[in-house]
Amino acid sequence: MSTPVHHLYVHVPFCTHLCPYCAFYKTKNVSAEMRGFIPALGRELEHVRKEHRLEPRTVFWGGGTPSALSVSHFEEIAAFWPWPEAEEFTLEANPLTISGAKAKILRRLGVNRLSLGVQSFDPTILQTLGRTHRPDEVRGNVRALRRDGFANLNIDLMFSVPGQTFASWKQTLEDAVACGPDHLSCYNLNFEEDTDFFLRMQRGEFRADAGQDAEFFLHAVEFLARHGYEQIEISNFARPGFSCIHNEAYWRGADYLGLGPSACSTVGLERWTNVHDTAAWMEGVNAAGQSPRTAERLTPEIRRYERIMLGLRTTRGVALEELRGFPEICAQLREEGLAELDGERLRLTPKGRLVADNVSELFLAPSSQF
Ligand code: SF4
Repeated sequence: MSTPVHHLYVHVPFCTHLCPYCAFYKTKNVSAEMRGFIPALGRELEHVRKEHRLEPRTVFWGGGTPSALSVSHFEEIAAFWPWPEAEEFTLEANPLTISGAKAKILRRLGVNRLSLGVQSFDPTILQTLGRTHRPDEVRGNVRALRRDGFANLNIDLMFSVPGQTFASWKQTLEDAVACGPDHLSCYNLNFEEDTDFFLRMQRGEFRADAGQDAEFFLHAVEFLARHGYEQIEISNFARPGFSCIHNEAYWRGADYLGLGPSACSTVGLERWTNVHDTAAWMEGVNAAGQSPRTAERLTPEIRRYERIMLGLRTTRGVALEELRGFPEICAQLREEGLAELDGERLRLTPKGRLVADNVSELFLAPSSQF
């Protein structure tokens, strides 16, 4: 065991229903699998702690829908969970799945940040997305969670949903801000392969519209800035002091460990991904402490490229030291108004952030250039 790993992700694959646009690994709640999931998670955690110096500063439970686990599941987890006082412990939640009793056990487990998958405050858009909650339920839930002591709440929103008008997106942003979250994530809907939405796009029922994406995105940036939310990364906005520490670690290329089916880990130049199959994950973990996995050996160049790519998505940008070897590209980006210097860092301008993926590719050079 060498350097400590400070960031831990746990993937809970269960969802009460499956959304037609979602490409994450998930499975419909099956009570037998949910029962077996908790002890298997305990075994995987024990195994990982033998192999790595895991000293989490941040913990992030994502999915799937971690809040789909019941109060008794969380009580079972609390019996073996070793870190009730991580600096930041986020749990992704469906707005309808946290009751008073569940909020209490989550607080005891150490959860101090909730990320609510709201997506929209427009009932028609929620229906298109296959989401079952109503906007008024979200408002009531946010108030209840505040009363339950959650001082750090994120709301996830989605824009460029088929059928969504600019007026609907504007209203959703206004309704979201009126709930007073500390952090907002605004994601452009992508038509991911192997989803119903992708098939519908292929059939010509839906279509992507880059012009509309830009209009919706730029409005979000301007509106949220006016309401005190600083843009931290392309899709993430926070009140001062409420940026997500776990995400920041990921963007700067820190090591992290992942537990649960489909979870990815990166430590040094090693990266591995657990099998995308809950039953196979459980079987592997129960037999040998670890999931069947695919592993890859990274190179320093790949990790450096990832830090550049992720760093350029943030408003802090990337240290010039990291960009050594690319003076022409940096100069060209500045000339075209896509990037600017901020002291010893290069960061994208709002115009550059609209084409961040294309900009990043410019740095994907043969390793000889590094
Ligand atoms: S979007 Fe969230 S709730 Fe919907 S299927 Fe995906 S993981 Fe489950």
